[in-house]
Amino acid sequence: MNNKKNIFQQILSKKIITKIIYEDNLVTAFNDIKPQSPIHVLIIPNNFISTLNDINKNHELILGRMLLVASKIAKKMLIDKDGYRVVINCNKNGGQTIFYLHMHLLGGRQGIKFFF
Ligand code: 5GP
Repeated sequence: MNNKKNIFQQILSKKIITKIIYEDNLVTAFNDIKPQSPIHVLIIPNNFISTLNDINKNHELILGRMLLVASKIAKKMLIDKDGYRVVINCNKNGGQTIFYLHMHLLGGRQGIKFFF
């Protein structure tokens, strides 16, 4: 287990105090520590998956839930009408820095571009 994976696991186990925006039996969402846009939420599975390369058929429900929660949070934060962006970075060339699968939800201003 590396330190970067630990960060999200420590958030999940409440060892690092972070305001949890949403949690259920499969996923948890919290604000990004270094927001790239006015709204920048991270949605992660409750059980460890390192990267998008590591998913399989057993993860279909979790991956679907991550999208559903992104849409739910976007509505709750009133960015659904103007629009938003969801991003999953994978490995070095995808710009992944934390090796614990996470989905970025970015909104609150126009033309958000992330890593390109
Ligand atoms: P990646 O580059 O791996 O797709 O995104 C990792 C994200 O995690 C970055 O946007 C970064 O700001 C965020 N992040 C890193 N460490 C922490 C932390 O300790 N707490 C929170 N809330 N976000 C973090």
